[in-house]
Amino acid sequence: SAKHEGKGHYRYYSIDLDKQAKLKLKISNKLRRAIELEEFTLNYQPIIDIETQEVKGAEALLRWNNKELGCVGPDIFIPIAEEIGLINEIGNWVLRQACWQNKQWHLAGYSYLMMSVNMSSKQLVNDDFINVVNNALVKSQLEGSYLELELTETALLGNLEIAIEQIYRLKKMGVCIALDDFGTGYSSMSYLVKLKIDRLKIDKSFIDNIPHSEDDRITTHAIISLANNLNLQVTAEGIETEEQYKYVKSTSCNAAQGYYFSHPLTADNFKFLLDKSPTFS
Ligand code: C2E
Ligand code: MG
Ligand code: MG
Ligand code: MG
Repeated sequence: SAKHEGKGHYRYYSIDLDKQAKLKLKISNKLRRAIELEEFTLNYQPIIDIETQEVKGAEALLRWNNKELGCVGPDIFIPIAEEIGLINEIGNWVLRQACWQNKQWHLAGYSYLMMSVNMSSKQLVNDDFINVVNNALVKSQLEGSYLELELTETALLGNLEIAIEQIYRLKKMGVCIALDDFGTGYSSMSYLVKLKIDRLKIDKSFIDNIPHSEDDRITTHAIISLANNLNLQVTAEGIETEEQYKYVKSTSCNAAQGYYFSHPLTADNFKFLLDKSPTFS
């Protein structure tokens, strides 16, 4: 351990931890006021329909810009928000904003557009969750079938009974369910059927080494076949190169998303992209 490496090491190590704890405390305190100070925005990453080669939806990705801390990524602040009990409040804001935005785009003529929103497991198991989703839909006048909620395997498996019930209720509202980062968790076959999921999102880590890695091509192909056989839609995440897109186009994958098509965009820039109606061949 650090202690055995001499006094200097030990002290350096503890100062570092102290710094980290202080930063986390600072982030926590700033997070508590982020909604009222209007420091959150959503970015939207286009999702491409492989068959039509057009933009068919957006994934809402939360951005936080604090005066003192600058831009902090969701991989940093979402786990902290979960830990300090803020994730429901933040998640509600995200849901309302994303539904409202999608309705605006529908009204502007893009009435086919799907909106995907990431959910934390803490939101799914909240007693009020179904009400929160319903309120976001009613307030925005968006039909449930144009909202897709992205959940992760770990979120579902930790709360399987509650998850099954909540998903049942969401499906009655027409809301779609996607399994995010698929392949990185346990990927148990039995719950996939039980849970009535609509879509698998293949994790970026499998796409990264395509086409070079035979293992990753086999894994990706197996996930796509699994989705096909279970009658689920499937999206490839993290497409960065033409070769990767070529590969997924050669399979029966339904949709693709990644920097190759577009980084996450502001709402204005997403609208500019829609107006250009690009095709990604
Ligand atoms: P995710 O849901 O898997 O989102 C995909 C992440 O990969 C996003 O990072 C996106 O910007 C990034 N990405 C997309 N295409 C590419 C690509 O081609 N290459 C690379 N290197 N990256 C790509 P981001 O926005 O930093 O979000 C990270 C994670 O934070 C998300 O992963 C999601 O788990 C979480 N998150 C974001 N917004 C929310 C939210 O509103 N609520 C909750 N609960 N979680 C959120
Ligand atoms: Mg996601
Ligand atoms: Mg993902
Ligand atoms: Mg992720």
